[in-house]
Amino acid sequence: MTTDDWTDTGFSTRAIHAGQEPDPTTGAVVPPVYLTSTYKQDGVGGLRGGYEYSRSANPTRTALETALAAAEAGSSPAHGFAFASGLAAEDTLLRAVLRPGDHVLLPDDAYGGTYRLIARVFGAWGVEHTAVDLTDTAAVAAAVRPGTTRVVWVETPTNPLLGISDIAALAAVAHDAGALLVVDNTFATPYLQTPLALGADVVVHSTTKYVGGHSDVVGGALVVADGVAIPGGRTAPNGEADVAGAVRFHQNSSGAVADPFAAWLTLRGLKTLAVRMDRHQSNALAVARYLESHPRVTRVLYPGLESHPGHALAARQMSGFGGMVSFQVGSEATALDVVGRTRVFTLAESLGGVESLIEHPGRMTHASVAGSALEVPSDLVRVSVGIEDAADLVADLEQALTPSVAP
Ligand SMILES: *Cc1c(COP(=O)(O)O)cnc(C)c1O
Repeated sequence: MTTDDWTDTGFSTRAIHAGQEPDPTTGAVVPPVYLTSTYKQDGVGGLRGGYEYSRSANPTRTALETALAAAEAGSSPAHGFAFASGLAAEDTLLRAVLRPGDHVLLPDDAYGGTYRLIARVFGAWGVEHTAVDLTDTAAVAAAVRPGTTRVVWVETPTNPLLGISDIAALAAVAHDAGALLVVDNTFATPYLQTPLALGADVVVHSTTKYVGGHSDVVGGALVVADGVAIPGGRTAPNGEADVAGAVRFHQNSSGAVADPFAAWLTLRGLKTLAVRMDRHQSNALAVARYLESHPRVTRVLYPGLESHPGHALAARQMSGFGGMVSFQVGSEATALDVVGRTRVFTLAESLGGVESLIEHPGRMTHASVAGSALEVPSDLVRVSVGIEDAADLVADLEQALTPSVAP
């Protein structure tokens, strides 16, 4: 769906209003959950508002798709698509643009599920990949295979090491090679970073995380810039030559769509994204500064700290540093001890909800990449800093970092 007439407004106004006009029949201020699979036709082919069958389109999903496109794209036209999960969104995009023999560049600390999808699922269909350090633009330029690399996949900040890469520079490298630049914007959110404005072609989200924001729904999204050609001059099976048209065809053909209730919950989350992110990041900075001062913590990774190698780039490219913090504590045993002893931080995978979470990437979220180029340090702890009171979060880490048994 294209963005509507809220394009001249600020982020929060768009997030709250785009695609969400009061219901024309009843005036309901909140878009209803349209729990219907099909729609009455006024004579054969007489569709009301284009709705025919809910895999193809559903009004609650349309509201979310319109709002997400407006959130990511601002005043430029873009197309939003909502899926059953972040990985379903990624799978649909990759099927729409890749063919056997193509090559994908992805970060050497990519989200593990993205790596598994590209390396193991698409690998079995003849798609090759190279994992590179995307914070090193020269290394990316050296790794692209012009005419064969069709997608450069970017995460910034990365998970769990919070590396920052230069979206505008990588867009130039990708476009020179005839590839698309795809940015997974899950960690930053459109409130803090708008990759399409920096030259990216497609933005990917796991809306399960900050956009949903309450750890109660799984979902994913694509926002595709208008008028982007499928690499290699290809067309989709329905003849579409642009990425948005190809994604629309594949979304309906493969059918991994967001259901109406998931779309409604995600839209509800999107409305408060800006105020939540403000608190997430002020709490994250407080936590990061506290950890930096702690004698048992050997290293803190947070782009908002001056000590972070990507700090200056993040300050230029983002309007804030987000709510994710990782830190190292010297040994795996200490890391496992700390994650097992917090009370306010809940030991769990995932991120981006109002409640603070803590985890051990080596044994939890990133266990599947052990032994690969994406392996993470065993003494690493990752926290998703929630929107509780900062003093309680710091106090919780303080007690968890205090040795339970005198050394
Ligand atoms: C969680 C996540 C995904 C995958 O999304 P799902 O909704 O779990 O399928 C992709 N990218 C990043 C950065 C994530 O954190």
